[in-house]
Amino acid sequence: MSETVVIKRVVDEAYDTKSFFFDLDADVRPGQFLMVWIPGCDEIPMSVSSVDGREKSITVKAIGPATRRLHEFEAGDRLGIRGPFGNGFDLSSGNVLIVGGGVGTAAVMPAVAATGADVIIAARSDRDVILKEVAERHSKNVWIATDDGSMGFHGNAVQLMREKVSQHDYDCVIACGPEVMLYFTYKACEELGLDCQLSLERYMKCGAGVCGCCVMDDQRICRDGPVFRREQIARLSDFGRGRRDACGRFVSFR
Ligand SMILES: Cc1cc2nc3c(=O)[nH]c(=O)nc-3n(C[C@H](O)[C@H](O)[C@H](O)COP(=O)(O)OP(=O)(O)OC[C@H]3O[C@@H](n4cnc5c(N)ncnc54)[C@H](O)[C@@H]3O)c2cc1C
Repeated sequence: MSETVVIKRVVDEAYDTKSFFFDLDADVRPGQFLMVWIPGCDEIPMSVSSVDGREKSITVKAIGPATRRLHEFEAGDRLGIRGPFGNGFDLSSGNVLIVGGGVGTAAVMPAVAATGADVIIAARSDRDVILKEVAERHSKNVWIATDDGSMGFHGNAVQLMREKVSQHDYDCVIACGPEVMLYFTYKACEELGLDCQLSLERYMKCGAGVCGCCVMDDQRICRDGPVFRREQIARLSDFGRGRRDACGRFVSFR
């Protein structure tokens, strides 16, 4: 599906992150994403960060040309939308712990809203924590971790996740965030014998499984993912190792 939407409102989430709300007549499952066309600039993948009937939002961290341009958009401006794409999270996995790191927190928020499950929001510092109030509207237990200790637990998402898993009885961890966080989440879940569903990020052009830009082994991240379970991730040889850039060149994380 492809349509033009009008931005209804823009909300500042942090010094570098804004949410854009618009009406979109589409059923979106938690964990799915949209291809967002920024007129005159680029088309980029963005997770849906909230669903309220027709109203949807995306939450965008300004890091490069397209996301900075999008940050200049205001209520009344138009965006092109294709999607939703991807598989989304399976929310029938029992008692889940949901973990969002950085702007990856946006991608897990619809799962938080749908389940009211316990949530960890991790960020570099208190300035970088996003969507805390949104999570608190849906969940009784919202725990914050910051690398510098300026808010909540002093440490990273995986350290706090290990602590909470030892104190509670979870069946599955759902997570989205930087790949280093997802890699150590995966390792911890493997060690603890805990199921996980991780939302991965790769360079995407079409979003619909055609162009092949986001292929990892035999999986297209856009179409077969972006959410993968532990046993699938075990077979993705580039996971935690590196990614392909816009030209298809392999760029190592290490
Ligand atoms: C499924 C998915 C969901 C995402 N959800 C969010 C979200 O909710 N909020 C958010 O802020 N960001 C999200 N991103 C990342 C976002 O798409 C990039 O930050 C954005 O494309 C950067 O574009 P730029 O021109 O501003 O920066 P650039 O300087 O062009 O790129 C900065 C980084 O973003 C990556 N990037 C650039 N273009 C793309 C592309 N077409 N596909 C994938 N990665 C790209 C680059 O490889 C580079 O690592 C998501 C990415 C994917 C794949």
